[in-house]
Amino acid sequence: MVKKLLIGIPILLLLIAGGFLWHNSAEDIDVASKIASDGTTTEEVTTETQATETQTAAAPTEAFALPEYDGEPSVEINNNVPEFDADIETNQSFETYGELDKHGRCTDAIANLSVDTQPGASEARGDISAVHPSGWKSDQGWERCHLIGWQLSGENDNPRNLVTGTHYMNVEGMLPYENEVDWYISETGNHVLYEVTPIFEGKNMVCAGVHMQAESVEDDGVSFNVFCFNVKPGYEINYKTGEVTVSDEELAAQQSFERGYVLNQNTMKFHYPSCASVEKMAEHNKEFVTMSREELISKGYEPCGNCEP
Ligand SMILES: [Zn+2]
Repeated sequence: MVKKLLIGIPILLLLIAGGFLWHNSAEDIDVASKIASDGTTTEEVTTETQATETQTAAAPTEAFALPEYDGEPSVEINNNVPEFDADIETNQSFETYGELDKHGRCTDAIANLSVDTQPGASEARGDISAVHPSGWKSDQGWERCHLIGWQLSGENDNPRNLVTGTHYMNVEGMLPYENEVDWYISETGNHVLYEVTPIFEGKNMVCAGVHMQAESVEDDGVSFNVFCFNVKPGYEINYKTGEVTVSDEELAAQQSFERGYVLNQNTMKFHYPSCASVEKMAEHNKEFVTMSREELISKGYEPCGNCEP
């Protein structure tokens, strides 16, 4: 990602700049499509376009197109071969977290990981609940995902290292790679060059996923280059707003799923067996059934407003 830029310039500065430039590239796409879709080019857009053109003249070409999710939590990029610049100093441990961009989004985290960057054996995880990463909504089932995991960096509530992500991305996507690096460092005491870049499409506040790369320094023990999808199977995500809704397919599956309900033959309501109304119901009105929600509604029953079956 930063290959063409590094020559002769201090590395850390460039890693940060690389993060910025990536996002300028992403905005190029957004601006370009704005022009294309409404057919007009406003002065504001023109100015923006000129500004980004100037910046992208020096920007690296992003190495991959955003992959399509097809059921696997992660996919290989560049045949799984990491693309770090040979000029990055790897003789000592470091961690760099790019500044948030103008939309308040994480940009990039890069580190040379080792036992030095990991939390000490007695160190406990800190509270990260005060951080609200871009796109965060507290009632949508989101998790705060570390770009560089706590077990590798010891970073807790660093807002430059936390993105709004699904449990699926965190656990199915990222964790196996984080564990691999963690195990390797613990076994060998070696260093691992490691970069995690959240990929935001246009001005979306929630990332489409994270690009993870790692390469061990002292030997060939660790090497990967992958993209982990920020998705939740069965759900649709609005990446602009952070809203998560059950997908039509999932909803249909839930509707046709047969389970135990309690019917009230007087009110024609149906309840979960655990509903408080069930205890109060007169025995002669009460009926236990195993049916799908769909079927009950087709028979004229309505879902209870309290237990919301
Ligand atoms: Zn109920």
